[in-house]
Amino acid sequence: MSKVYLTGAGPGDIELLTIKALRIIQEADVIIYDRLANPEILKKAKNGCEFIYVGKEDGRHIMPQDDINEVIYKSSLKYENVVRLKGGDPFVFGRGGEEALYLFKREVEFEIIPGITSAISVPAYAGIPVTHRGISKSFRVVTGHEASNRNFSSIDWDELKSDETIVFLMGLHNLDKISNKLIGIGKGENYPVAVISKGTTKEQQVIVGTLANISLKAKNIPTPALIVVGKVVELRDSLKWFL
Ligand code: SAH
Repeated sequence: MSKVYLTGAGPGDIELLTIKALRIIQEADVIIYDRLANPEILKKAKNGCEFIYVGKEDGRHIMPQDDINEVIYKSSLKYENVVRLKGGDPFVFGRGGEEALYLFKREVEFEIIPGITSAISVPAYAGIPVTHRGISKSFRVVTGHEASNRNFSSIDWDELKSDETIVFLMGLHNLDKISNKLIGIGKGENYPVAVISKGTTKEQQVIVGTLANISLKAKNIPTPALIVVGKVVELRDSLKWFL
């Protein structure tokens, strides 16, 4: 009987892989993976494990999702332990839900192995807590990738008016548009923003700026990168502990 493990790989630092994910990876007959923040994880697999790359760059699929679903399904017909490995957490902008639904419809058994999402851990490695008493009572994780929708009309910008922390994933290439939209809904030009690239790895870079200057400051930063908007960004001055 075959089983598919929709598994979170964590944000980059290999030690942020869960013990469960590590065990599942060690037992895998096949690992179907995206561009991972830490490819070293694949070295944990047993000898003879097959690797299938179904890469995704910055949210843009190289292989269409339907084909990825099929690859996973076909693997389940061939192998007992199928691992679908995804950066961060599989259910946070990971399309893990879609893949699980596809398997459900085909009556393939599956398990979800949650991972540490970049949305929280990458700010943490930059010394930025997503909530902080007296500063931000909530946080929101938003996709900054709206290629099919040039005006971002699918994002309810008015909802972003409060002082809660906003983490944009897949938004680096739209940083300019995002900052302008936020200024447009009334956040000040000096409102704090951080862009964090390759978070939790040795190559982590953190650029701190304001809505007015961040897109210039973060211009040449490499992906993967996320954007944190909110007053919590200022805590980095005191809480920077990594890079
Ligand atoms: N499921 C993933 C997110 C997938 S969307 C998770 O839970 O983390 C991919 C986006 O995540 C990237 O475009 C980037 O915005 C962010 N991201 C993932 N790993 C990152 C890292 N190490 N540093 C900065 N951003 C990262």
